[in-house]
Amino acid sequence: MRQPLDRIETDTTLPDAADVVVIGGGIAGVSAAYMLAKRGHKVAVLEKGIVGAEQSSRNWGWCRQQGRDVGELDLMRHAIGLWQSLPQEIGRDLGFQQTGVVFVTDNPAELASWERWSKVAREHQIHSTLLSAEEAQARTPGSRKRWIGGLTTPSDGRAEPAMAAPAIAAGARRLGAQVFENCAARLLETTGGKVSAVVTERGTIRTNAVLVAGGAWSSLFCRRHGIDLPQAVVCGSVARTTPGPQVMVASTSTTGFSARPRTDGGYTVAMSGRGTVHITPSLLRYGLAFLPTFLQRRKGLKIRFGRSFFEELFQSAAWGPGDVTPFEKTRIWDPAPDPELLALAMDGFKTAYPELADLAIAESWGGAIDSLPDAVPVISSVPKMDGLYLSTGFSGHGFGIGPAAGVLAADLIEGRAPVVAPHPFRYARLVDGTRLTPDSRL
Ligand SMILES: Cc1cc2nc3c(=O)[nH]c(=O)nc-3n(C[C@H](O)[C@H](O)[C@H](O)COP(=O)(O)OP(=O)(O)OC[C@H]3O[C@@H](n4cnc5c(N)ncnc54)[C@H](O)[C@@H]3O)c2cc1C
Repeated sequence: MRQPLDRIETDTTLPDAADVVVIGGGIAGVSAAYMLAKRGHKVAVLEKGIVGAEQSSRNWGWCRQQGRDVGELDLMRHAIGLWQSLPQEIGRDLGFQQTGVVFVTDNPAELASWERWSKVAREHQIHSTLLSAEEAQARTPGSRKRWIGGLTTPSDGRAEPAMAAPAIAAGARRLGAQVFENCAARLLETTGGKVSAVVTERGTIRTNAVLVAGGAWSSLFCRRHGIDLPQAVVCGSVARTTPGPQVMVASTSTTGFSARPRTDGGYTVAMSGRGTVHITPSLLRYGLAFLPTFLQRRKGLKIRFGRSFFEELFQSAAWGPGDVTPFEKTRIWDPAPDPELLALAMDGFKTAYPELADLAIAESWGGAIDSLPDAVPVISSVPKMDGLYLSTGFSGHGFGIGPAAGVLAADLIEGRAPVVAPHPFRYARLVDGTRLTPDSRL
C-alpha cells in the first residue's frame, strides 16, 4: 500500500452545461480547473477514478527547475512561485518545502552537461550553482562516495504527492468548480467541427471548451476522435523507506539513486531515468517519432513484450456514447513496481550513506509515466477541433510544473495573453515533422 491519498468531497449531480469541462483529475487538470474557477468560469472536472490517484500521487514529489528542457524553464519558474502562494490562497497544505535540489556526479561528461545547462538557466533567471568536488561533498554530508562535482538550485523544492492534487481540487470546488469522481469522459460531440458536448458515463455536459488532461490515457482519448497524439508510457518504480538517520535536507540525485527525505522520517527512493517500456501497438504506431529519444535513453529502459500488447491490440478506439470505455474498465492504473530496480536504488543509496545500512523498503509502487518524443508537455489548442485543448504528456516531470501548466491552459482557453511563451508546448510540433529530441544539454 502507498501512503494514503488525501480524499476530498466531490459532486454528484452532473451539470447540463459548463464553460469548460476538464477531463482528468490529476495535478494538470485540477490546477487548470482552479485557475479557471478563480477567473469566474463554470468548470466541471471529470475523473474516471479518484482525484490524484494516478501519476500525481505516485511521483517523487520533486518540484525542480534544475535540469529541465530550456523550453520549460519560464513556466517552471512561475510554478515555484505558485507552490509558495497556493497553500495560503487555498487554505490547505500542499506539503511544499523549498529545500533545494542537488545533483552530484563522478562523471566528467555529466558535469560538463550541467555546466552548459546552468548557463542557459541563468538567462531564464534561474540561479543554479555548479558545485566543485569539495562543495558537492559538503552538500552530501555523510556520503562516502567521492564526487567530482555537482549542481544545485536552492529555489527548487518538493511537495507531497498524496496531498497536492486533492488540495488544489478542493480549492477549485471552493471557487465553484464541480469535481466528479468515478465519472469517465467517453467522447466529445461536435457541431460544425467545434466541440459542443462531452458524453460521460453518467450523462452529457454541453460545453464549447474541453481540456484533455488525461495523463497516460490522453492519446487513446484523442485517437477516438481521429487526433494523433504520439505518447509512450514508461512505468516507473518508487519506494518509501522505514524511518532512519537524517542524512540530507535537499532532494538529491546521482547515477545510482535519487532520494528525498519524507515528513514521516523515511525517504522516497528511486532511480532517475530508469523504467520499463511495454511494447504496445500504439508504441509501434508512434515508434519513429520516439526513435531519437529511445536511442538517447535506451540504457535506462527495460523493454518488455507481453499481455499489454494483445490487450491493446484487441481494444478498439471506436466506441460509441453508450459503450463502456477503457477508461471505465481501469479506474486507477496501478502498474507493479520493479523490485530489481528498487533493490539497486536502495543499494546505491546505502553504499553512498553507510549510516543508512538498516533502512528497509516500507512500501513500493509503480506509476505509468506519459511521455512525448521531446519530453516536453503539450499545453495547447488542437487546430483540428475548435474548442479542444490539451495539457498532457508531462514526461515524468509534470508534478512540479503542474500548477503553472494550469495557468497556461486557462490562459489559452480564455484567449488571454499567456503567462509564458506557449510555443514550446504547441501541439503542431508533434505532427508537423519537427525533429523531436530531448534537450541534449541535460
Ligand atoms: C514514478 C514517478 C515519479 C515521478 N516523479 C516526479 C517528480 O519528482 N517531479 C515531477 O515534477 N513529476 C514527477 N513525475 C511525473 C508526474 O507525476 C506527472 O507528470 C504528473 O503527475 C502528470 O499529471 P497529470 O495530471 O497530467 O496526469 P495524472 O496524474 O496521471 O492524471 C490524469 C488523470 O486523468 C484521468 N483520466 C484519464 N482519462 C480519463 C477520462 N477519459 N475520463 C476521466 N478521467 C480520465 C486519470 O484517471 C488520471 O487520474 C513522476 C511520475 C512517476 C510515475
